[in-house]
Amino acid sequence: METFDIVVIGAGPGGYPAAIRGAQLGASVAIVEKEFLGGTCLNWGCIPTKTLIASSGLYHRINHAEGFGIATGGSTFDYPAMVRRKDAVVGRLKGGVEQLLKGNGVRIFRGAASFLSPNRVAVDGPEAAVLESKNVIIATGATSAVPGFVPVHERIVESRRFLSLTGLPSSLIVLGGGVIGCEFACMAAQLGVKVTVVEMLADILFMLDADARRELRRNMEGPLGIAILAGRPLEKIEAGTTGVSGEVNGQRISAEMMLVSVGRTPLAAGLALERAGLKTTLSGHIEIDSGCATSVEGIYAVGDVTSGSTQLAHAATAQGLTAAENACGRARKAAEALVPACIFTDPEIGAVGLTEQKAREQGREVAIGRFPFSSLAKAQALGETNGFVKWIADAGTDRLLGAEAVGPHATELIAEAALAIRSGLTAADVAATVHCHPTLAESWMEAAHAVHGESIHAAPRRKKT
Ligand code: FAD
Repeated sequence: METFDIVVIGAGPGGYPAAIRGAQLGASVAIVEKEFLGGTCLNWGCIPTKTLIASSGLYHRINHAEGFGIATGGSTFDYPAMVRRKDAVVGRLKGGVEQLLKGNGVRIFRGAASFLSPNRVAVDGPEAAVLESKNVIIATGATSAVPGFVPVHERIVESRRFLSLTGLPSSLIVLGGGVIGCEFACMAAQLGVKVTVVEMLADILFMLDADARRELRRNMEGPLGIAILAGRPLEKIEAGTTGVSGEVNGQRISAEMMLVSVGRTPLAAGLALERAGLKTTLSGHIEIDSGCATSVEGIYAVGDVTSGSTQLAHAATAQGLTAAENACGRARKAAEALVPACIFTDPEIGAVGLTEQKAREQGREVAIGRFPFSSLAKAQALGETNGFVKWIADAGTDRLLGAEAVGPHATELIAEAALAIRSGLTAADVAATVHCHPTLAESWMEAAHAVHGESIHAAPRRKKT
């Protein structure tokens, strides 16, 4: 039996930063991983999808290059080469995680971990071991949910299997219009796949601001040619040698393949939590407090396995750092509550804080400042004029409550909004901050001026006569 100050279970974006922070603070740390370092995010989540989207986005732009005075003479793409590039990027980053862990003196155990008691963890695998520790951080993540009504068939895949395909289907039904479904739908459509998205809720990405959804749908249904069937479930799914089909509102739709993207199931079942005195919620999540502590002293949980998780890698990392610091006895702190969201659709979306609808539901009086990319010089130069940025400010105090960006590099732009909101800035503060010209970031300054009706580059509001 080996003894450590902290044992981390799971080496995804929640677990491995927790292990490194623990080691930085002087703790002896072990991390147990049953599959691959980097977890879902690095191996079959954020990184592989964004690497493929980089390929599909570039191909799409090349095919629309005439407007820039570039004649390409008709371009083609090699999907297996795109997949090889994706695997190479993942491989490089995975090696980097291993080096970081080893460089910080974290012991890596390969195998599946389960509790023997609150302070003892068994590792079952090539390096079988029993680890004793005052502190355990559970970071075991989640896996794709595939509901029972979906037949088991090779033509029906979830995101992990889709990422291992070496060829694309000519047509695809995407079951579920959430973040993962919409990202895959846009990527496949950019590569010429005929895509139909079926979403049971009233709209795709229903948690987003209504303006953002409208803008995204305009591009998905327009230039990308994606059919979106929202507000009805997909029923009577059948799969055979030639394809997959199902019924939406009595109408039969079919495609060569189906991607199931209807949510993620937490991975806590194999941990023998009962031996640690822990239980999961009915949905299988582990409950934690604001400092990532579970109901058992010394046991923390972070990331997708926890209840209330935002299912975002950077949120898992923020929690992992908090759990490690609390385990090391630093002044107890709560995990950061303000988490920006990034969606790599075409156009991209970034969102942080309250949406306009949520703020109004809370009974707040809000002032909105919106600035369209069509009025921004840099967006014109880039030929990317669809979309907008939008501030939601408190009408009384001018304090910023939320923001959305839809359009070019929106997932990068949202960082400024997150910093402004977290710092308690007002719309006047952002409006007074000089931004470089010509940049996309200027749109935040213009939208902040627009909160007060003073944007320079937006058409003036019509004066009442
Ligand atoms: P995970 O990353 O799932 O890591 C958990 C690790 O624990 C895994 O490696 C697993 O093998 C290991 N494990 C589980 N049980 C045990 C056990 N008993 N013993 C030992 N090891 C165990 N988020 C973003 O922020 N941006 C994105 O662009 C983005 N894109 C995504 C795209 C897709 C297709 C998917 C599926 C997800 C995406 N996400 C994205 C979500 C993101 O991947 C997750 O929120 C994040 O990986 C959660 O981190 P985690 O550490 O909680 O869990």
